[in-house]
This record gives sequence, structure tokens and C-alpha cells, in this order.
Amino acid sequence: MGKIFGTFGVRGVYPDFLNEDFALKMARAFGTFLKGLKENPKVVVGRDTRRTGESIKESFVSGLISSGVDVVDVGILPTPLVQYSARILKVDGGAVITASHNPPEYNGIKLLEGNGMGLSRKKEAAVEEIFESGKFYTASWKGVGKKSQKDMKIDYFMSVMERVDANAIASRNPFVVTDEAGGAGALILPELLETLGCRVLSLNSHTSGFFSARNPEPSESNLKDTEKIVKALSPDIAVAQDGDADRAVFMTSDGKFVQGDKTFALVEKFVLSERKGPVVTTVATSNIIDEVAKEFKVEVYRTKVGDLVVTGKLLELGGVIGGEENGGVIFPDLALGRDGIFSTVKIVEAISKSRKTFEELLSELPKFYQIKDKIRVRGDRKSAVLKFAKLLKSEGFTVDLTDGAKVIFDDGWVLVRASGTEPIIRIFSESRIEGKEKEYHDFAISKFIEANKDLEVEI
Ligand code: MG
Repeated sequence: MGKIFGTFGVRGVYPDFLNEDFALKMARAFGTFLKGLKENPKVVVGRDTRRTGESIKESFVSGLISSGVDVVDVGILPTPLVQYSARILKVDGGAVITASHNPPEYNGIKLLEGNGMGLSRKKEAAVEEIFESGKFYTASWKGVGKKSQKDMKIDYFMSVMERVDANAIASRNPFVVTDEAGGAGALILPELLETLGCRVLSLNSHTSGFFSARNPEPSESNLKDTEKIVKALSPDIAVAQDGDADRAVFMTSDGKFVQGDKTFALVEKFVLSERKGPVVTTVATSNIIDEVAKEFKVEVYRTKVGDLVVTGKLLELGGVIGGEENGGVIFPDLALGRDGIFSTVKIVEAISKSRKTFEELLSELPKFYQIKDKIRVRGDRKSAVLKFAKLLKSEGFTVDLTDGAKVIFDDGWVLVRASGTEPIIRIFSESRIEGKEKEYHDFAISKFIEANKDLEVEI
């Protein structure tokens, strides 16, 4: 059996890998799976702004309907809003037609649980098995599903209003620059911020699906034009999102890119000041998260990399906030997935209530020095990481194997982890002492090479 699901759903280039036939078959497999659990299942379906989104979505909807599943089509929405909708509409499953941050020729399908969380690995495997077997349930003409449409924007806006101090934001009246990459966030974030009392200048907010101005991945190198505009305008804060707006990255008023760890820590600090509870993050995130949690005397739980595991742990623990080093923040009280819309609102609220600048709030966070690097490696990367771990353990170092190999030092750590999707090994290092992060980074690379003399490594 081939593995078609990646870290969160299926993604590929249209039409070679992902096309209408594929979507129809995937929907019939998902529909057959849901029919096996319940007589009349209901599924929410939304999509991002991609050119191929509408026809892929229609195929997907047809597949569900032919399996006897009712469909609520919520149209073009950010992934977190589809996840939110699933919970509000009390459905049995969901799907988002999106390729997240991938280039415009890509599309993809993310399947969701009834509560809006990404579908569990176990259920994904079951759907995949049905997909591969081609044994689909087909409803009779009387049993086909019904499709309805619902606009969930106002519901989401209302839920956001209930969770923020809109008066504080309105009285501060912050100036926010948004860059939506022409993705689904463009239809929500600028309007929501204005509704809350911000002055908003939105870039790349046309939703043609071409992503012609910038790649939808909000990396520092893809945001050079945005940086120039931000520098010229000097807003209180700038935010850039990926294609389906589950992630948000931020810039200061002078166009400086802020690491995801830091914005997550800022949101964490603000959320914990309102409500205390467990925090969940991955082994790749900065210890700033732990330092902030210590101030509020709450626990931090660390998981493998991936928002699905973070969300699962949040649910299990009744955690109040979760997040990742790439700028994804999860507010389990609102939606069971990373929400780049609400994290923006929360940071804007934190600035507004503090009467400080974004830069001042960031400078108040505990200081850590970081390097995020990658090396190209040919061959079996997972076992190479294990060999590295074994060598260091034999030399008496403390190594955490939650995900990859994380070597723990008194003032920091270095994580060596094989990428699941690319032929690379990621090397993240951190220390509270300036310069040590470089020492740990170099140390990890030399030990990795020592443990894997037979491998071809490109630094
Ligand atoms: Mg995304």
C-alpha cells in the first residue's frame, strides 16, 4: 500500500498528481469510511484561493454526496476557520482543499475530524486503505447526500469578539500592515482587524489564486518586497500569512522579521496572563516558552514536530495554548488547529492593552540566541540521526529522542532532526549565552559527520 498522506493531508502538483479524479476518489473513500461509523454523516468542506480549488472542491463534494454524506460548503476560508466551522456546525468530519504554503500549481486535501482537528493517523490509514482498495460505498438515488452552503465569517468574527478586549484595540487604533499572499486570509484578516478598530493597509489581498507577487510561504526571503513597504510605512506591526492562513509571521515597524518562537512566546505570555493552564509545544521550539511558563507557574509539555501532535496533546491535557517554532499558534478554546488569524488578533490586543510598542514587548521576553540551519544528506537520514544520538550518549551527553536527537546542555540545546519531506537534516541550536549557540551548532555538525563517516553530507 502506497503512502499518500503527508504530514497534514495530501498535496501535489495539479493535474499530474492531484486532479478531479483523485479528489472524487478520495472523497468516496472518506465518505465510505464515515458511512461505516454513522447512518447520516455530515461533512464541512472549504478551500483556499487556488485556481484549481473550485473544480477540485466540486469533485470532492460530488464524491461525498454519492456516498450518502451531507455536505456543508463554507466556500473560500482559511484552514483555521474551516476547523472552527466543523466544531460549530457539529459535523462528523471536514475537508480543506488547500496546499497551504506551496506554490500555485499545487493543491491538496486536508481531512478533518468532526471537532475540526486534523484527522488522526489511524483514521487516515483507514481512509487510505479504502482509497487503495477502490471498494467504495455508493448510495441509492434516494440515499444521496444533500449539499448546503453556509457563510461562517460572521460566526467567527463574533467568537473572536467574545475573546478579545475590542475596546482596548479600538482606543489604541493600531496601524497594521497585512500581507495575505493572495490566500484565504485576505477575505478575513483585514476586515476583522478593521472591525476591531485597527487601521489596516492590506497587501496581496486579491484572491485570484495566481500568487504572482510572492510565494505563499511566508519566509524571510519571500518577504523582501513586504519588508520594503513596511519600512516605508512604519506601522505598529506587520503580519504575513501563508496560503491558508494557519500561520502568521510578524515584522516590527522597521520591517524586521520576528522569529516564530518569539511571537508564540508573546502570545503565550498574554494568554497565560488571562488564564493559566498547560502549554504544549514541540522539541524544536525555543526555551523562551519554558521561561514564560515559569513566570506563571504552569507546565510546558514537549511533543514531536507537527501541529497535529501538539493539538492532540492540548486536548488530552486541557491545555490553554500550543504552538510551534514556525509561528503556528493553537488556541484550543477557539479552533483545534493553528490559527494565524487569531494569533494576529491576540498580538494586536497585547500591544493595545500594554500601551507599549511591539518592539518593546519583544524585548521584554527572556533572551536566547538561536541558529536554525539545515544540511543536505544523501541516504538514510533517520538512522544517521540515531547514530549521532548513540555516539553522544556513549560520550555521556544527555540526549532527548522525542523527535530526532536533542542534546541538552546547561544553558541551551542542539536538535538534529531528519526532515520528513526533503533530503535534509535540520540543525537548530540555542543558548542563553551569546556565541554558545554557534558552538553547539558546529559541535553537532562535526559529531554528526563523525558518527556517519559513510554518508555524503553537504553543509
Ligand atoms: Mg498553512
